[in-house]
Amino acid sequence: MDGYELSVGMEVHAELLTETKMFCRCRVDFGGEPNSRVCPVCLGLPGALPVPNKRAIELVVKTALALNCTVPKNSIFHRKNYFYPDIPKGYQTSQYGDTNPLGYNGHLEITTEIGGAKRIKIRRVHLEEDTGKLTHLGQEGSGIDFNRAGVPLMEIVTEFPPDISSVEESKEYLVRLREILVWIGACDGKMEQGSLRCEPNISVRPTGSDNYGTKTEVKNLNSFKSVQLAVDREFSRQSQELSKAHSIRQETRGWDESKLDTYVMRSKETEADYRYFPCPDLAPMVLTEEFVQELREELPVLPDARRRHYVKHLGLSTQEAFALTQDRAWSDFFEQVCRAGAEPKTACNLLNSEFAKNLHIRDLTVTDPGVPTPRQIAALAQLIDSGTLSSKGAKTVMVELFERGGEPMDIVDRLNLTQVSDASFLIEAVKSALVQNPGPAKQVADGDEKVIGFLVGQVMKATQGRANPSLVHEELRRQLNL
Ligand SMILES: [Zn+2]
Repeated sequence: MDGYELSVGMEVHAELLTETKMFCRCRVDFGGEPNSRVCPVCLGLPGALPVPNKRAIELVVKTALALNCTVPKNSIFHRKNYFYPDIPKGYQTSQYGDTNPLGYNGHLEITTEIGGAKRIKIRRVHLEEDTGKLTHLGQEGSGIDFNRAGVPLMEIVTEFPPDISSVEESKEYLVRLREILVWIGACDGKMEQGSLRCEPNISVRPTGSDNYGTKTEVKNLNSFKSVQLAVDREFSRQSQELSKAHSIRQETRGWDESKLDTYVMRSKETEADYRYFPCPDLAPMVLTEEFVQELREELPVLPDARRRHYVKHLGLSTQEAFALTQDRAWSDFFEQVCRAGAEPKTACNLLNSEFAKNLHIRDLTVTDPGVPTPRQIAALAQLIDSGTLSSKGAKTVMVELFERGGEPMDIVDRLNLTQVSDASFLIEAVKSALVQNPGPAKQVADGDEKVIGFLVGQVMKATQGRANPSLVHEELRRQLNL
């Protein structure tokens, strides 16, 4: 919008990948019969006492470390008080304050539209619990499902003033954040199931102004796409209001996917409304240096660092590096193939083409049993690099590895796939192809070089794909005096 600039802060809620809820032993799962995973603690019945889930605390600290945050030595839980039917206790157990949350003062690096790097400051990463789910049943009123109540929830909030200043950066921040959360096993990242939820707060101000505008928060966004659309829509709506000299109201707005528009849900509460106070039922957490150090050591190399390594040290393109870091298991597999002796470039090409294709056809993932091992793929890559196997032969060997297993070299021998680079064999093969295709041969000789590909194809066909195609190409040009 001409004359206005956009600022976006992000609040992301991620359900943690734990077996049980935050303060009780109820199982964490998606779906199921309503209220089938509840107990006196997560229903907030009188006298029930919470016991914190250690795994959840570890996952939040790991996330905080991955996001370059400071982890405090002590941290406590607070009660965030409000009345709403989805919160059976009358308060949500959460964390409050600038330096109390399990992580604060961090940052995440994103790539901007012009290819530069931008640091998005992170204000805090804290631990809380999820609420229940309200369902409107039409004539019959409303139903409440508490299966989700008490599920460990992590909130990640960006710093103010916001660093994000475009729709694209909003999306990029979420993509990179989700990637890290899934990579370190903190969250499954399923936005459509609500295990990752994002609430952008959006403000607009005249270009160059030092004063940030009043912000609105948008809810009900269940895909990256809807986040982008909603941020874009709020940018134009607020710009238009400001251009008419109307003021923006601080409010929470919903997203209507069918109308591609935001609507008012409620005027935004302020922090003071929640009457936060330390939860008397939960002992303060002490985070020793050893505890934090152990978690730091458990952290895998993060996707961004892996990509930099692939480009800088393995000679791959940025695009290839991104394709290899789609998920951690895939990237781990690639590294194992390289360690088993494959050239990175050949390994990358094999994985992203034939290997991926065979997995896809069989509906397998890289960690499933029966999938070729990194050692087998490395042996196949070496046969390609040594010129023993053509790309067509490599395809056949890959299929054999999936269907029957075995050693790539044995498969090559058994199926007689060795690529032939022998000069006399190629000279004969090319000679007979020219005799059998006098028309195309004349066309090429007369200068229509496009047809040469057809002749290469004829030689490949006659030799059942065993001739080395680049040598065939050379030999054709030699015999046609090109
Ligand atoms: Zn429970």
